[in-house]
Amino acid sequence: MLFTKNYSTDLSAGKYYIYISLRRIAMDVSTEPRNLNGGREDVLEQSDYFMATAFLTAQQSRDPCTQVGAVIVNERNIIVGIGHNKMPNGCENFPWSKQKKSLKDKHLYVCHAEMNAISNKNMTDLKNCTIYVTLFPCNECAKIIIQSGIRTIVYMSDKNAYTNKTRASKMMFDAAGVTYSQFEPKNKRIIVFDYDEINRKEEEVTPTDSCTPAKKIRPS
Ligand SMILES: [Zn+2]
Repeated sequence: MLFTKNYSTDLSAGKYYIYISLRRIAMDVSTEPRNLNGGREDVLEQSDYFMATAFLTAQQSRDPCTQVGAVIVNERNIIVGIGHNKMPNGCENFPWSKQKKSLKDKHLYVCHAEMNAISNKNMTDLKNCTIYVTLFPCNECAKIIIQSGIRTIVYMSDKNAYTNKTRASKMMFDAAGVTYSQFEPKNKRIIVFDYDEINRKEEEVTPTDSCTPAKKIRPS
């Protein structure tokens, strides 16, 4: 699996657990009785999906200290931008160290997840969009979020709440009418990938699956 950590809202402790069962979704191997008229009830909630996607994209970050992900969703709940903290294009080999007053300090160069998600947007403007972020936005990202037209922030960790950067972010959001709230997961355990399990379980599938007969119906 890609990542399996104990779930917690405290990212600084490295404890969270987002684990999406693609084996069940992709391979459709459940043998439990199903309601074929009403459809599934144990589906992945939309907000859980967006936050899980933010965590998944964060896994791409090369930052040795903090991996952050951001997903922007429009008013129709379609993802219109996604990003993680990374160096600017062409600057991939710049240092990730924290050395204040030095040109080796990563803060001089790194683009935060929110900036990248906004830069990657696939629509003309982000008016009234929502941004899902794994960590509360810093003051620099707050400025960009406000100017972009995003109106709602859903965040997971607020581990830097005591810093002036985060305090400044909240002051700006409050003044600009941008609302923010901490994410409340519907599912605290979401499975992402386990390809070994996918392959193993595929071999275990039996014809007792209640959906199997429906798949065998031939078009008339
Ligand atoms: Zn930032």
